[in-house]
Amino acid sequence: MCGIIGYVGPQGTDVTSILLDGLGKLEYRGYDSAGIAVLTSTGHLELHRRAGKIANLVATIADGAYPHPGPLGIGHTRWATHGRPNDENAHPHPDCTGLLTVVHNGIIENYAELRQEMEDIGHIFRSETDTEVLAHLIEHTYFGEAQHDLTLAVRMALKRVTGSYAIAVVSGEHPDELVGARLNGPLIVGLGEHEQFLASDIPAILKHTRQIIILDEGEIATLRPDSVSIITLDGTRVERDPILIDWDAEAAEKNGYPHFVLKEIFEQPEALRRSLLGRVSNGHLYLPELAQMQQNGLLDNIQRIVIVACGTSYHTGMIAKYVIDQWARIPVEAITAAEFRYSDPILDSGTLCIAITQSGETADTLVGIRQARERGAPVIAITNVVSSAITRLSDAVLYLQAGPEIGVVATKTFVSSVNVLYMLGLYLGRMRGRIKVDQLQEMLAALERLPNQIQHILDRASGPHDTIEKLAQEFSKVSSIMFIGRGVGFPTALEGALKLKEISYIHAEGFPAGELKHGSIALLDSETPLIGIATSSHVYEKVVSNIQEVRARDARVLVVATEGDEKIRKHADDIFYVPDTLEAFSPLLATIPLQLFAYHVAVARGCNVDQPRNLAKSVTVE
Ligand code: GLU
Repeated sequence: MCGIIGYVGPQGTDVTSILLDGLGKLEYRGYDSAGIAVLTSTGHLELHRRAGKIANLVATIADGAYPHPGPLGIGHTRWATHGRPNDENAHPHPDCTGLLTVVHNGIIENYAELRQEMEDIGHIFRSETDTEVLAHLIEHTYFGEAQHDLTLAVRMALKRVTGSYAIAVVSGEHPDELVGARLNGPLIVGLGEHEQFLASDIPAILKHTRQIIILDEGEIATLRPDSVSIITLDGTRVERDPILIDWDAEAAEKNGYPHFVLKEIFEQPEALRRSLLGRVSNGHLYLPELAQMQQNGLLDNIQRIVIVACGTSYHTGMIAKYVIDQWARIPVEAITAAEFRYSDPILDSGTLCIAITQSGETADTLVGIRQARERGAPVIAITNVVSSAITRLSDAVLYLQAGPEIGVVATKTFVSSVNVLYMLGLYLGRMRGRIKVDQLQEMLAALERLPNQIQHILDRASGPHDTIEKLAQEFSKVSSIMFIGRGVGFPTALEGALKLKEISYIHAEGFPAGELKHGSIALLDSETPLIGIATSSHVYEKVVSNIQEVRARDARVLVVATEGDEKIRKHADDIFYVPDTLEAFSPLLATIPLQLFAYHVAVARGCNVDQPRNLAKSVTVE
């Protein structure tokens, strides 16, 4: 994870404020420590690093240590992989001479051997990180064979490295040069007027420029105030035109909401509309990316579908498993990516792999998908980030079009992913002749109603009759909550439990409702509430029976049910009603009150909702 930022421009620039502002936008990527290195106009490299959130760093430098203006600087916000989250392990990491400094996102897998080698020739290490080895390797090549050529030194050093990285490097001898490189870690270049930027992600520099170059794997960029040049690790020159980012800068701001998470929950109707845009219209489904795959014969021979994803994306894959099985009559498996890669999976051209990763850079998913490709499986990627790493490993990319999601926990990208998977399932169902035209039209019409139906839930939750916030306050004192559901209600229960765990730190577990009695029901007592997903479905009666079994054990029961279901009142202590839709689409509505519930519980417990402890948004390590 980690966020990195770099700047090169005219002498006398307030680099510190550019770096700190950018880091603030990247803090969702990690917040174990933060640091900056600024080359001041007097030629001095000032380094400031602090454990904890960026606010700690800001407080330290505001306290009389604000770096002088200068033309060059790099910054970092860390999610520790190697070494504790303390001041010493915070980036940037200098070399022995203090002339060179590095920030890094990723893991240097062969750092132990390289560190030994560098120590044997006299380098002194000051941190426990894997990253520091890069500073010493670059020092070795910079003062040796590369003869003070920074780009060459970086290139030579990186050739020795295995693992993943996005790095930014500066030298006190080159005030007009910033070098960045990436391999399996995100890095973008922002083009300005007589100034250039490097960052892990677009929001960090959106305030300064909309002209962005997305670096490719194994590329090194050398940024000078008036030029950017790119080469590959083997030294070949690369020409790449910038893309123009048309996001509204406000999309990455809170806009009056107390938290990004709440803002993003309320953006879900819009996110869903955007994911339908151009794809569903007048009873037709348009997915040109899949039509192209079909034309290329990649979908002719599909016997099986494997969905590879992590966390919330894995839950979206589980929902898709239920519906695509039915609609296309193709067996679908959803596998958590971290297990998939090392399970020696059976894959061939008859297995369609679907990778779901909002960031497009989830390391576990990327390695799994690389393996799928090696074994000849066609791959479809579902991601929110244009040109992210997963897009280069896929035969087709279906973008979520959800806009930036800054809160660490996934909310709007959940609804958009599920929606994209529905459209993909309907496409396959149609392609295999399992869904008739009139059925498709009925389903598309139901899909198109979902944004307004979500809006209806949100409006009610913001109105005087809302019960979610009140119940959340009552439930905020419990130490454990169980969630149950059947069919598509099961992954909905898992997602409800995950949201609660992630942001409120209350222990929560999701179960298939019928499974509870086979063991876990032993956990229930009057202190352990249960949330049941009991929206209209072909297994509704079964879920209600399972809820009864729980109530018989004195557990307090809160149910998510379909509007108009009066019968449920006698089975539940409290109810969150959601509008009626087709059973397949019910997770998109049932999840909304569960997100709001988790949010309000977390707020009532005083948790940091946007940046929960131990988490980071994009998990770029295995
Ligand atoms: N491995 C580096 C560290 O622990 C960077 C971590 C990351 O990118 O998450 O400092």
